[in-house]
Amino acid sequence: MAGALLEIHGLVKRFGGFTALNRVTLHVKEGERFGLIGPNGSGKTTLINCVSGSLHPDDGRIVFAGRDITALPAHQRTRLGIARSFQIPKPFTSMTVQENLDIPLEYAGHARARDAGAEAAEILRAIGLDAKAHLRPSGLTQIEMRKLELARAMAARPKLLISDEAMAGLSSAEVDDILAILFRLNGEGITIIMIEHIMRAVMRFSERIVVLDAGERIAEGAPEEIVRNPAVEKAYLGE
Ligand code: ADP
Ligand code: MG
Repeated sequence: MAGALLEIHGLVKRFGGFTALNRVTLHVKEGERFGLIGPNGSGKTTLINCVSGSLHPDDGRIVFAGRDITALPAHQRTRLGIARSFQIPKPFTSMTVQENLDIPLEYAGHARARDAGAEAAEILRAIGLDAKAHLRPSGLTQIEMRKLELARAMAARPKLLISDEAMAGLSSAEVDDILAILFRLNGEGITIIMIEHIMRAVMRFSERIVVLDAGERIAEGAPEEIVRNPAVEKAYLGE
């Protein structure tokens, strides 16, 4: 698929007898700002878990930068340039904010190229967490915790950054703060998948949106097409 960084073909994921993803096909272009939305439980995080490698699909294929990664373990996907933030932040609580970046830096194989400490400090500065570098994550506010999640993802120097509900529970000004960071990272050439429940944010950010409902892909289009799609409206009414 020309220009596609990520291709998902016929992805199926079952948990016991429950089908969480039912033959989902989508692609994300290189450099794109892509939105993935859908009601709670529609399969967004499951799809991302299949892309990052923390879950393995029951059927279907995932292709990244032209390479079939369906069977690759998560750490190899990180090395290829796939990074994600978690919906529920998972920092290492016994380490400082800055030390939290050392592991993803090393994991992604970049630590040898440069001094990991300097690289971590640079990422924290870019994301506005430099003043908190030596605190434990427990000393962070909610938005700072979200920024740490993004910084940890960025430490792997990804080609593709997947943000899973990084804005949930934030104030409107804080949402704008995270949005500005994601726009800037995209401007630096990083392809971004935004999973978000805050419609104002995902509509403003995304060039293209795919909508999931009950594990099925129900719509795809530009934000202005998605907002007036009756199937999308119907899916969200049940919430
Ligand atoms: P979303 O991120 O869109 O809110 P999820 O992908 O987290 O949705 O979940 C999709 C569906 O799969 C939900 O019904 C959820 O309960 C179920 N599910 C997710 N993970 C598991 C799991 N590990 N075991 C069983 N069911 C799961
Ligand atoms: Mg989710």
